[in-house]
Amino acid sequence: MYVFRFCPDCGSPLPPPEDASGRLSAQVCSACGSIHFRNAKPCAGALVVRDGQVLLGRRAIEPGLGLWDIPGGFLEPWEHPADGAAREIAEETGLRVRMAALLTVVMDSYHDQFYTLNIYYLAEIVDGEVQAADDLAELRWFGADALPDEFAFAHCAAVMDTWLSTLKSGA
Ligand SMILES: [Zn+2]
Repeated sequence: MYVFRFCPDCGSPLPPPEDASGRLSAQVCSACGSIHFRNAKPCAGALVVRDGQVLLGRRAIEPGLGLWDIPGGFLEPWEHPADGAAREIAEETGLRVRMAALLTVVMDSYHDQFYTLNIYYLAEIVDGEVQAADDLAELRWFGADALPDEFAFAHCAAVMDTWLSTLKSGA
């Protein structure tokens, strides 16, 4: 994980970033009193579902090059997750979508660099044609019974499991 060794405010050395149980935690600068929180970075995405199939993208860049991913990405500092998910989907797929429901929130890490807090919606298409962005090798519709075996990020499988359980419960 990325950690601060020096206070970003005053430049003094910081204490170790782990708490007594070894987990990453906030660092307090003993020189200036600044508290440096190490919260998970917020990300948002959506399962775009049409006729019972979900739209996934195969990544053309690292991390996770060649693996399937759910459309979404990192939020801007001021951005509501629903707006961020819609923006990322427009950029990655060419589709304008509307968030229909909040699906799930899952924790993950971004290839051991930092933690992520991943907010996922169910989305419906408003308009547009599917057109993969440059950072995707392809976009493909998957049925619930034929999902990819492997995903770019560990949390993607948990999101798909949540989707499958909502299908079973008829939600
Ligand atoms: Zn300081």
